[in-house]
Parts: sequence; structure tokens; C-alpha cells
Amino acid sequence: MTTLVWLQRELRLQHHPALETALSSAAQNDDAVIVAYFHDPKHTVGDANSAWLADSLLDLKQRLANQSGALWLIEGDFAERFQTLLDTYSIKRVHYTFQLGAPFKTLQQTALTICKERNVTLTPFETENWLPYETVRNQSGQPYKVFTPFYNALMQRIGDVEPFDETPLDFRVTARIDCPPEHDRLPQHLSALRNQPWAEKILKHWQVGEVQAWQKVDDFVENRLSHYAHDRDFPALAATSELSPHLHFGELHSRAVLLSLSPLNPDTPTAAAGWIRQLAWREFARAILWHFPDTETTPFQPKFQGFFTPLSEQDEAHQDFYQAWCRGETGVPMIDAGMKQLWETGWMHNRVRMLVASWLTKNADIDWRAGEHWFRHTLVDADPANNVMGWQWVAGCGVDAAPYYRLFNPIRQSEKFDADGRYLRQWLPTLANWRSKRIHAPWISGAQPDLWSETPEPIVDLEASRQRHLEKVQALKQRRLQD
Ligand SMILES: Cc1cc2nc3c(=O)[nH]c(=O)nc-3n(C[C@H](O)[C@H](O)[C@H](O)COP(=O)(O)OP(=O)(O)OC[C@H]3O[C@@H](n4cnc5c(N)ncnc54)[C@H](O)[C@@H]3O)c2cc1C
Repeated sequence: MTTLVWLQRELRLQHHPALETALSSAAQNDDAVIVAYFHDPKHTVGDANSAWLADSLLDLKQRLANQSGALWLIEGDFAERFQTLLDTYSIKRVHYTFQLGAPFKTLQQTALTICKERNVTLTPFETENWLPYETVRNQSGQPYKVFTPFYNALMQRIGDVEPFDETPLDFRVTARIDCPPEHDRLPQHLSALRNQPWAEKILKHWQVGEVQAWQKVDDFVENRLSHYAHDRDFPALAATSELSPHLHFGELHSRAVLLSLSPLNPDTPTAAAGWIRQLAWREFARAILWHFPDTETTPFQPKFQGFFTPLSEQDEAHQDFYQAWCRGETGVPMIDAGMKQLWETGWMHNRVRMLVASWLTKNADIDWRAGEHWFRHTLVDADPANNVMGWQWVAGCGVDAAPYYRLFNPIRQSEKFDADGRYLRQWLPTLANWRSKRIHAPWISGAQPDLWSETPEPIVDLEASRQRHLEKVQALKQRRLQD
């Protein structure tokens, strides 16, 4: 009998229950195992994300080959290719790791239908979390909707986090089916995307793959973890782990990362506790999307239905604001620096993500879904759970949301978290020579007029737009009182 291990976002060899279980049962019965990634260009997360995917698949393919295994890369319409593979190789069992959100939801549903029709056993492995989603609930049995109680509950149960079987995988023990040449190369769509100059530019900032990811964990723990709690909000310091894309692609299993940190007791004032808390936000985002799948596209708080006008229905001025924001040309240095960092590297510092999202949704009054869409296409770590939660949180309509009447002031934030302007100078060539403290708001400066004249004016007046936003939320409040 042949078992298919269908990979989606678990591109690793270690800590992989779906793969380990398939191999050990194949070894006992002299069965074959096919490990495959299906690439359907109609069902991808986003472009920058796909560029990373290309390198991650090639890395995994090489590592599997080194261990006498093979990664089949199958391109085309998912339903058609999946059925053909099952039928051609008389596959009777499929193992996969459950993934949340688009496009995985659709693919998993399709696989379920196809397997049912053929009497093939489709086994989901729900292991991408510290603890199963269903087991972390409040005393009334409801899912948590606020982070801190969720985090406290998670920490109380941290001893239940299951360790992994660390036995190395052995592909030599299974019956062999050779990978056909057409599945032995990177899918054309990914290859074409990966060869674009922008993909090259982004990926030169990263070392993609499982081994490289673990090296990065070690480097972070050794050199940056002890300063993390203090430095993590300062974008110029590169004080965070930058592991988000590795976690998104499952090059690292989040549970393995957690277990590698010791001691795990959050009451112990260790440097690790602050980082574990941040990792727990990822757990929270995933739990929210699991329990409330509609929030991928609709506000978590129902009172915000209709609060945001879809971008396509907004006037030209708003379309222009959006385009300027995407290009990093809003005239507010901290916002533009963040958007340039995103464009150049496929990643943005968390504090700056919050600021650019606040400017877009509150100052420019643009639907959070438009911002989420741009992030989805430009972030290498674009992740259905984290991205949606981040956007809804900032927009004020999400779970555990920042109060909707509170707006970040990007100038004050810039002065506080980039006091010497290092981050601004790094990403904005027009400010590269500014030494003045007024770098955070050059248009107010008046000093250095020669330099100032080269910097753009803000396209949205921060104070006036703040007032407009507050009036809009006040009107929402009034409407609710009247209802
Ligand atoms: C508007 C907005 C959009 C975002 N979109 C994404 C996204 O698409 N993908 C993504 O992985 N993160 C997203 N985040 C969360 C966060 O910004 C990134 O996870 C973080 O910047 C990644 O950097 P790091 O790996 O150095 O994080 P570290 O500070 O080193 O944290 C370690 C890990 O914890 C997790 N984590 C940290 N902060 C958060 C958070 N606030 N929410 C959820 N998980 C968190 C990440 O997996 C991260 O890699 C978004 C945040 C905002 C405000």
C-alpha cells in the first residue's frame, strides 16, 4: 500500500508527526511513501510568500534527497492533480497537517471530497500548535477572546505540551517509488516568480530552510534574547528574532521552538519569558481563526459591519492615499520607512506594522482588508491568522483590539522608538543626511530648508484626520445606542 504525505506549510524533516507516522507504518508493512507538494497557481498566499516557498521547497527537496527520500513537486489544478496521483499510485492513505485560512481551507475541503469518493483515508495531524485548539477554553467552555487570559491559561498548561520523538527519519526502510521527472523540478509558476528581480532582492536578506532556521534560533537565543524585552520595540536595533517566515512555512515547528527554551516556567523571571509571551500571540491568532473562521474577511466585532467602506467603492482621493501608502510616499517618515523596508526585504518590524496599519485605517480611513491584502502579497511571512489578527487589532474591530478611538501618532512614536532617526535614515534616502531631531516631521521643521524641500509634505493631515476618525467612531457609538 502507498501512503501520501501531503505537505502544505510544514516544510521540515524534524518534528513532523504526519511524516514520521507514515514512515514508521510503511517500514512495518514494506509499504511505499510519497511525499508531495501540490502547487496550484490559483491557490497561493501571496507573491513574496511564494518566492520564499520556492526556495524552501528546493531546500527541503535537497535534504530529502540526501536522506534517500524524494519530494515530489506537482503543479497544476489541485483537484485534478490530487485525484490523478491517488489513482495512478493506488494510494489508500493520505497524511497531512491541518492548516488554517485561505487558501488551505479550500484545498483541504477538496482533498476531503476526493478521498471520500475513493474510500481513501485522509488523516489530519493537528500538531502545529503548542496545545490542541479545543483544549484551551475558559471556565464556561468558551474560546478566549482576550489575549492575557488566553496566555495565562496556556501557561498553566505548559507542562502538557508534548515533546517530540527525536528519532531521525529513515526513508531507506520503505518500498521505493521513483519520482517521475515532471515532478522532480520546481513548478514553473514558482520558478518564474522566483526569477523576478524583486524576488531576488527580497530573498538576499534571508537564509531559507529548516537548518538555517534553527541556526537563527540558536543565534537569537545566544545573542539577542537577553535584550529582547527591552529592545524589541526599537526598529533600528534588529532585536527581534525575525523567525516569522520560518514559522509560517513550518521550517520550524512552534512547539519545538518552545521546547528548546528552558526553563519554560513563566513565573521564572527569565529572558525567555518575554519572548514566549510574544510567541503565544501566534498561538492566540491561530486559536481565534480556528474558532471564528469568518473573521478572516469580516470584523471580529459585529458592530463594525459596514464601518469600513470597501476600497473599490471609495473616491479617487482614497485610492490615491492607498497607492501612496503602498509605495511609501505618504510624507510621514515613519510610515514611509516601514513601507520601504517591506518592499525591500519582504518583512517589517512589528512596531512599524502597527503604525502603518493605523495610518491606513484611521488617518486615511481605508478598509483594513485593503491593507491586509497588500501585506499578504508583500510579506514573506504573510500568514492568514497573524495578518488578519494584526490588521483587525489595529483597526479596532478585532479581538483584544486597541480601543477604536485610540490612534497612534506616528510622529510621537517615531520620536520614542527611533529617537536618533537611524531607522528612518536607513530606509529613506531623502533623509539620509538628516541629523536633526526634526527628522520625524521634516515639514514642521523649517530648519535645514535645503534638505526639507526635498522631503514630501504629508498627504493626509494627521490632526484633521484624527478628528475625522474620532467623529466617525462617535457616530458609530451613537447609532448603537439608538439601536
Ligand atoms: C498589521 C499587522 C500585520 C501582521 N502580519 C503578520 C503576518 O502576516 N505574519 C506574521 O507572522 N506576523 C504578522 N504580524 C505580527 C508581528 O508583526 C510579526 O509576527 C513579527 O513582527 C515577526 O517578527 P519576529 O519574528 O522578529 O518576531 P519576534 O518578536 O521575535 O516574535 C517571535 C514570533 O512570535 C510571533 N509573534 C510575535 N508577535 C506577534 C503578534 N503580534 N501576532 C502574532 N504573532 C506574533 C511570530 O511568529 C514571531 O515570529 C502582524 C502584525 C501587525 C500589527
